[in-house]
Amino acid sequence: MTATASLAGMDTAAGNITAPDPADLISFDSLLSAEELALRDTVRAFVRSEIKPNIARWYEEATFPLEIVPELARLGLLGMHLSGYGCAGRSAVEYGLAGAELEAGDSGLRTFVSVQGSLAMSAIHKHGSEAQKQEWLPQLAAGEAIGCFGLTEPTAGSDPGSMTTFARRDGDGPTADWILTGAKRWIGLANVAKVAVIWAQTGDHGDPRGVRGFLVPTATPGYTATPIQPKLSMRASIQCEIDLDEVRLPHDAVLPNVTGLKGPFSCLNEARYGIIWGAMGAARDAFEDALAYSKERLQFGRPLAGYQLTQAKLVDMALEINKGFLLALHLGRLKDAGRLAHHQISVGKLNNCREAIEICREARTILGGNGITLDYSPLRHANNLESVRTYEGTDEVHTLILGQQLTGEAAFR
Ligand SMILES: Cc1cc2nc3c(=O)[nH]c(=O)nc-3n(C[C@H](O)[C@H](O)[C@H](O)COP(=O)(O)OP(=O)(O)OC[C@H]3O[C@@H](n4cnc5c(N)ncnc54)[C@H](O)[C@@H]3O)c2cc1C
Repeated sequence: MTATASLAGMDTAAGNITAPDPADLISFDSLLSAEELALRDTVRAFVRSEIKPNIARWYEEATFPLEIVPELARLGLLGMHLSGYGCAGRSAVEYGLAGAELEAGDSGLRTFVSVQGSLAMSAIHKHGSEAQKQEWLPQLAAGEAIGCFGLTEPTAGSDPGSMTTFARRDGDGPTADWILTGAKRWIGLANVAKVAVIWAQTGDHGDPRGVRGFLVPTATPGYTATPIQPKLSMRASIQCEIDLDEVRLPHDAVLPNVTGLKGPFSCLNEARYGIIWGAMGAARDAFEDALAYSKERLQFGRPLAGYQLTQAKLVDMALEINKGFLLALHLGRLKDAGRLAHHQISVGKLNNCREAIEICREARTILGGNGITLDYSPLRHANNLESVRTYEGTDEVHTLILGQQLTGEAAFR
């Protein structure tokens, strides 16, 4: 069964599960097709039944639940925006809608799908040889293998061009082995991955100078991944240090179709796009928790929802959620039309992360002391969003991209 067909099956099984979103003040659903709504509802049903009942425990235990990977694959969510090689071939809007629902569960869940699909699989799909695609993409789409994407280094974060991981040739000629040496940091899933896409400087033995991508089977001697712990954010998610100690790779381990930072950046753009939706999913979930609580919690003899100060908070949150989803949908439609400009991704990523984190923090205030427990989602989401606003370009980096767009002046260095 294809991934697309399995999604259609789930649609029927899920039935009409979706009540109108309490945050939806503008009939957002009227902007979506029946197919888009069906996909959204399928993923929402999965998150409600499989993720929400367990997420507090996974977060507390700092565990990513690998047991859900087969179900994510069965739903066609791994590399869902890619075509061929067992991928579902879904639209950018559908990818975004799924991301929002996953992140309403937890940012760690959307991050898993993003690292696997937007980063590792996209790198192979965009820049790999036909043999590399045939070898890796079907097993990554089926969840039989996990992939990771190693760009960031201990001393190269916002400025990946300063990376020092180096791939040298062991000898002359195009069939000489590659030897990778260096270190990566913050690499999602690196200790459970079967294949790591590692970006490294090259340029000896007559090879062109520049950053190139390498497919590193993680069983290769010299590859070591160590989880970064303890974390105060993204606890139900894995990030690692990678040590690359003279990792020997065959000549055809390199991604042949790109040299330079445009290689990793083309994948980061896919992931950044998903965040535009995902952040609003987390915000919506925090809002829903706060709204429900405000209706039940009595203080001074009345529900919190009956006080004007509480209503002002809820209204401000809902306005930003509605605007954030509208922005995400507009950018998604542009992406599907092939007209999404680089700086427009920064508009969405910067705005929606910034608003989402404020919404989650404000939602926490409505919950009072109970809001600092894992019984409620807002503070968990807010803590996760600290990572989301940092990875795939920090707030500052996206501000600089937009500053350059507005003024024509680059202020990065
Ligand atoms: C949970 C998580 C998951 C991640 N997953 C991955 C992954 O799978 N693969 C991967 O390769 N990386 C991953 N990353 C790394 C992430 O992309 C980096 O953390 C990010 O690029 C920022 O780099 P840095 O942490 O080194 O911060 P730095 O670049 O050191 O930045 C520190 C601060 O300085 C600011 N700053 C930097 N430059 C400027 C400037 N020119 N002007 C003004 N301010 C500036 C930044 O905005 C930030 O506020 C992940 C990170 C996290 C937290």
